[in-house]
Amino acid sequence: MKAPKIIVAIDGYSSCGKSTLARQLAAKLGYNYIDSGAMYRAITLYFLRNGVNIRDKEQVAEALSNIHLTFVFNEHTGKSEICLNEENAEHQIRDMLVAEKVSEIAAIREVRSFAVAQQKQMGKKKGIVMDGRDIGTVVFPDAELKVFMTAEPDIRVMRRYDELVATNPSITIDEVKHNLELRDYIDSNREESPLRQAEDAIVLDNSVLTREEQLHKVIDWVKERASVIA
Ligand code: C5P
Repeated sequence: MKAPKIIVAIDGYSSCGKSTLARQLAAKLGYNYIDSGAMYRAITLYFLRNGVNIRDKEQVAEALSNIHLTFVFNEHTGKSEICLNEENAEHQIRDMLVAEKVSEIAAIREVRSFAVAQQKQMGKKKGIVMDGRDIGTVVFPDAELKVFMTAEPDIRVMRRYDELVATNPSITIDEVKHNLELRDYIDSNREESPLRQAEDAIVLDNSVLTREEQLHKVIDWVKERASVIA
């Protein structure tokens, strides 16, 4: 008999390797992978392009009503890529200009309701791995498996730097460090669904784990959880 499909919620600070784990796990399980951060980044890109004044509630509501987000699967990279109003924006949303603004925009109540409603919908049929900051606490409080990822701050900075420098050779380690610290601070201290470890989440510190080691650990947890509901 096939194991029942579950929901896997992965939360944690910036650049802990959540998306790498989530993507590998989804591929292994044949689940959908949704990068919820990409949704907040795409919304931010739209706001920047259209000069939306985030202090003006009407402008924010109007902008949100014009945003349509979808994911397409890229067979070459094995990644789901986000489309903003039908345009593939996966590359542009990783820009530092977006990274600098995204946490401020993700803290707006209306922006969160907009994204969370779509995320909940995506989990209706289960068989999903979603990563973010509030997945185990707000989006899927009943997820069968919740993982809260951490890693040493210096390791996180270097991982992010290595990723970004490939496309942006002028970026500095200090810039990356400052951006991660700022986002973590805003994400943890905002009023609307701040970044918190869910009480029933399992903590995964991957500072010294290889990608394969962390994947094996989490697959074991999935098997345990899926067998409980079989
Ligand atoms: O995951 P990533 O670092 O791409 O997320 C970008 C930003 O989006 C985060 O720093 C956070 O401000 C916001 N975010 C959020 N809730 C989520 C996912 C991301 O507020 N579930």
